[in-house]
Amino acid sequence: MTVFFSRQKWQEAYEKAGFYRTETNTIEYWDKVAETDGGSLSGKKHIECIKDYLIARKLIGAHSTVLDIGCGLGEYVREFADICGHVTALDYSEKMLSVCKERCKTAGIDNVSYILADFMEYDFTEKYDCIIACLNPATYQPDAFDKMLALSAGPVIYFSMDTPIDGPDTEPVYCGCNSVRYAEEYLKEEGIYYRKIPYSYEHIMDDGKIRNIDFAYLVAIKDENMDDVTLAHRFSNNHMTALKKDKICGCFYCTGIFSPDEIEDWLIDDNDCDRYGTAICPYCGIDSVIGESSGFPITKEFLNRMKDRWF
Ligand SMILES: [Zn+2]
Repeated sequence: MTVFFSRQKWQEAYEKAGFYRTETNTIEYWDKVAETDGGSLSGKKHIECIKDYLIARKLIGAHSTVLDIGCGLGEYVREFADICGHVTALDYSEKMLSVCKERCKTAGIDNVSYILADFMEYDFTEKYDCIIACLNPATYQPDAFDKMLALSAGPVIYFSMDTPIDGPDTEPVYCGCNSVRYAEEYLKEEGIYYRKIPYSYEHIMDDGKIRNIDFAYLVAIKDENMDDVTLAHRFSNNHMTALKKDKICGCFYCTGIFSPDEIEDWLIDDNDCDRYGTAICPYCGIDSVIGESSGFPITKEFLNRMKDRWF
């Protein structure tokens, strides 16, 4: 295996931070946290934010299987079980997992299965459409990140603290060694597609003072795991600038092929999907246009394949 500079840097930082040597890296610790109803940093708001992002890009849906690594009390589990086909909840704390189970039961959720195991020790027999790890110390290291990427047939959702690697907050505060930044450098170097979604949280410290902590979601997608019609979909919104330079574009709903000059209506809205303008097809009125600058072939054959996948 090739050793990448940023991967090595990450590994060194992880070892230096020594987060895995602290009490927070023991089953006993998390069992205790489960009893005090802890383990939830900021409630539902940030889960909504990532859910909306994934749904808008059709990266998850009714067909999806999801693995939540270090599910804790199951906040993500319940939210994702509501919109996905099946969720697998993994935690190595028996107490955490049993609270998670109980809460799903109370909520009437029955499309969840549970794995009591250490993520790094467990041999998975299947891939998942989406993998989530939220503030899970077990995943603050490149080995875990690689395992996540290998297990996902779609996006890997990675949530942790987002402070500059060489900044004053480099020392572990809550989230180990600022693994989002290290993961980001690693993804860049490996050439793996990702998006970063920042999330700032007002944390009440033990002494009662409020401190703003910057977090971020990384949504990483290994291209080789995704087929072209899935990847091409990403070019069907926020593409006004690109389309205006294109000579040709196509609609994967009506499969019409036309010049972008014919587009009269643009969806411009204050959301991540349409902020920079999304084309409405002049022939069928659906927001399902992609241009040649996407790099995908604008042909009847390809548009038909996209139609089969998305409609
Ligand atoms: Zn159309």
